[in-house]
Amino acid sequence: MSDAQTPSRIYYTKPSITELEIRYATDAATHGWGERCYEYIDRFERQFCTHLGVRHAIATSSGTGALHLGMAGLGIGPGDEVILADINWIASAAPIVHLGARPVLVDVLPDTWCLDPAAVRAAITPRTKAILAVHLYGNLCDMDALQAIAQEHGLHLIEDAAEAIGSVWHGRRAGSMGIFGAFSFHGTKTMTTGEGGIFVTDDETLYERVLTLSNHGRARCEARQFWPERIGFKYKMSNLQAAIGCGQMERIDELIAGKRRIFERYRDTLRDLPFALNPEPASTTNGYWMPTVVAHSDTPFDRARVLDAFRADNIDGRVFFWPLSTLPMFVARPQHTVSRSLSARAINLPSYHDMTDEEIDRVVSCVSGALGSIS
Ligand SMILES: *Cc1c(COP(=O)(O)O)cnc(C)c1O
Repeated sequence: MSDAQTPSRIYYTKPSITELEIRYATDAATHGWGERCYEYIDRFERQFCTHLGVRHAIATSSGTGALHLGMAGLGIGPGDEVILADINWIASAAPIVHLGARPVLVDVLPDTWCLDPAAVRAAITPRTKAILAVHLYGNLCDMDALQAIAQEHGLHLIEDAAEAIGSVWHGRRAGSMGIFGAFSFHGTKTMTTGEGGIFVTDDETLYERVLTLSNHGRARCEARQFWPERIGFKYKMSNLQAAIGCGQMERIDELIAGKRRIFERYRDTLRDLPFALNPEPASTTNGYWMPTVVAHSDTPFDRARVLDAFRADNIDGRVFFWPLSTLPMFVARPQHTVSRSLSARAINLPSYHDMTDEEIDRVVSCVSGALGSIS
């Protein structure tokens, strides 16, 4: 039932699909079979390498799959520990568990909401194998500090850049700095293939190992048909998905600019309110996948009230990730005071390519209205 009084729905994200993506997808569906069944996949991987400035890419069926493959390629397994931030989506931790290794959660920095390098250093044990740097909501981890720690202790530094396409650290794109990087093209991300992901690396040996793993353990130099040399994985992206990805890659600068335009309007209109937004330190660029407000700790802030205001105005509300250590499958870490306090004071704001200034202003008035009613 449509009601003239109901304001139009504001989604928290939605993909930007144009005639270009539709044309490529139609072409893939019409012609992309038989000997042409990898054409869009190959092209997509090349485009992604060029965009990121890396040598190798393997398109996957999800970001989770890309992480799983990469960590398996590094030989992470039972007895190993991987350090990551407590505030995260479960997808970053799950592949560690699937491999029989242990995710070691540490607290985050109050301004970037990403790994605290000092906490990482304190969590290192003889079992530590890798540090997983997740660039949360587009915000960058302190890659210089993490790189130094990894080097000093002989650890792998992995980047989960699923939320950070468009983010740049001192001239290097997120996802291109670690031993490998993983991206997601889920429908909520800045660029999408419906579902999908990609593994990227500059490391030849790791690339070959992951390529074999990604093909059910069949090495590409193997002459025998159907001859796996080990147990591998099946996380492939289809040519149809890659066709949409090729269109998105041609428009990637525009897609990132869209996220930045929305963030900047939020930043300008929320300027006088007691909130911190996604940071953008000197010599970095934030891809601003998800504009987020964090109420200052001395501000009375009730996020349920903001969510109610959103609901009343037909706006999707999305809570900041819970600290993983508050979920039932992890050990509680009440000492992670930054993670605990952030999560209660923060909320993600809607952002999608076609979002109008009027829609942004509707969101802002809900956020500021909810604040006014309790102060
Ligand atoms: C979306 C996301 C993933 C998982 O990607 P899928 O494509 O959904 O598997 C992993 N890590 C982070 C940080 C994400 O935001």
